[in-house]
Amino acid sequence: MQLTDNQRVTQVSDNQQVTTMSNLHKIDQSNIISLITNMDEKNLNGGAFTIRSKRTGKDYTFKISHKPFNGFNYLHTKVETEYMNFRYMGYYREGQIMRRDKQTKQLKVVDTPASTAISWFIRMIKAGNFDILRNGVDIFHIGKCLKCGKPLTDSTSIEYGIGPICRNK
Ligand SMILES: [Zn+2]
Repeated sequence: MQLTDNQRVTQVSDNQQVTTMSNLHKIDQSNIISLITNMDEKNLNGGAFTIRSKRTGKDYTFKISHKPFNGFNYLHTKVETEYMNFRYMGYYREGQIMRRDKQTKQLKVVDTPASTAISWFIRMIKAGNFDILRNGVDIFHIGKCLKCGKPLTDSTSIEYGIGPICRNK
């Protein structure tokens, strides 16, 4: 079932709970692991997913993408701040989200609740701590392909969170 945008939008007064839970499709974490661990993945371009803490119920919606720079493929992260509006946080490096300050040109650790959540998530996946992940969070997609961001239409794609073209790459 395709949900219209009207069904998805909630009133947004702050940075939390931007996307309603009702439109989210719960997925097994295995569907997202290869996107993060395969750094040669060239087609990862900002598919969105929601991570909800089982303990606190707090959730964030993220987008991740791979971009090569100087021969190295960086994993970039964005967080949803308003409905389908994503703010760049930084790239993943050595367990943290890093970003170069535009003024001072210095590399800084991005230390916000959202960056802490996504860096923990990536760390757990890279370390293979899948039980900790499974016990700690639920993962959802928002009806769009985790890899390329295009709308998912058939039931198999919705189950996996990845469209037919991206599944076969
Ligand atoms: Zn796709």
